[in-house]
Amino acid sequence: VPENIRSMLDAHELLKKFYHHLLVNTAEGQHALEYLLNRGFSKESIEKFQIGYSLPSWDFAANLLKKRGFEQDVMEKSGLVIKKERDGTYFDRFRDRIMFPIFDHQGSTIAFSGRSLGADEPKYLNSPETAIFNKSKILYNFSRARPSIRKQQQAVLFEGFADVIAADRSGVENGVATMGTSLTDEHISILKRNVESVIICYDSDNAGIEAAYRAATALGEAGCTVKVAVMPEGLDPDDYIRRHGDDKFKKDVIGSSLTLMSFKMLYFRRGKNLQNEGDRLQYIEEVLAEIARLEKAVEKDLYLRQLAGEFSLSLDALSQQVKEVQSPPS
Ligand code: ATP
Ligand code: MN
Ligand code: MN
Ligand code: MN
Repeated sequence: VPENIRSMLDAHELLKKFYHHLLVNTAEGQHALEYLLNRGFSKESIEKFQIGYSLPSWDFAANLLKKRGFEQDVMEKSGLVIKKERDGTYFDRFRDRIMFPIFDHQGSTIAFSGRSLGADEPKYLNSPETAIFNKSKILYNFSRARPSIRKQQQAVLFEGFADVIAADRSGVENGVATMGTSLTDEHISILKRNVESVIICYDSDNAGIEAAYRAATALGEAGCTVKVAVMPEGLDPDDYIRRHGDDKFKKDVIGSSLTLMSFKMLYFRRGKNLQNEGDRLQYIEEVLAEIARLEKAVEKDLYLRQLAGEFSLSLDALSQQVKEVQSPPS
């Protein structure tokens, strides 16, 4: 391992321990600890995920790292400190934030995401891309979740850290999340190397549903078996668990996740009034286009029957139309 890389990893490990210590053992961290406990984080989760707190200081980390002999320009490259152009001194990137260490897939700390305690923007501040952190290749919690993912041959994909942690506490230990970005091809190949089946459990707000549609489509095209777990309007998994409890989350959300086709049907219905003829025709066409893309004849037949039953249409007419979608008459 090149010396600079070693040094960046060591600095992250050191700060992870300090931030965690500040959160759980000090008076300065007490309000941050209360914030987390009030939000439903357990002490066990705080330990397990090594959550911490960064002081509202401009130079706590910069001084600590300097005192421990870390080269300041290397620390700047690691994203932990920022150089002031004016006088060449260094200041802390993360101040007065809840610190979530980001682990690589072997479990080394390679970055942080810091959440503001109040309404400060941005809500989450991430480490920049560095020689040790490439967010399009990292799934949060993958190193911890891997055994459970392998054993269940299934992974649950969440939108946020808080969701992964709340789900883990509720007993869903095979959860991972992207780092606030959309799902990349690299993420998909990591998942594909480890599991056949992925449950997408994104926030049930507009942005989450749109993102779930894109992620589900991409995973489906990559050949994964995809299901999508949905919650009542607006909630995210963390909110849901707090409001309805662990058992309902496992049974009514994860355990009741929709097949890709059923989710797409739900998605196409959004914003449409199926009593309205134009909306209804558009819906039927969208669903038929999806059915045409299915590979298995049994599946095609199943959904065609479902659609025919739902709108009292003739199965013959629908089957004919699917054939036309597949090979348009020239
Ligand atoms: P919380 O429950 O703490 O409000 P959340 O996970 O529900 O957090 P969302 O707003 O749903 O937050 O965002 C989902 C994920 O997107 C976050 O976990 C984070 O990784 C990322 N994210 C959100 N806001 C930002 C931001 N301002 N900058 C960078 N990433 C962000
Ligand atoms: Mn969201
Ligand atoms: Mn959310
Ligand atoms: Mn949330």
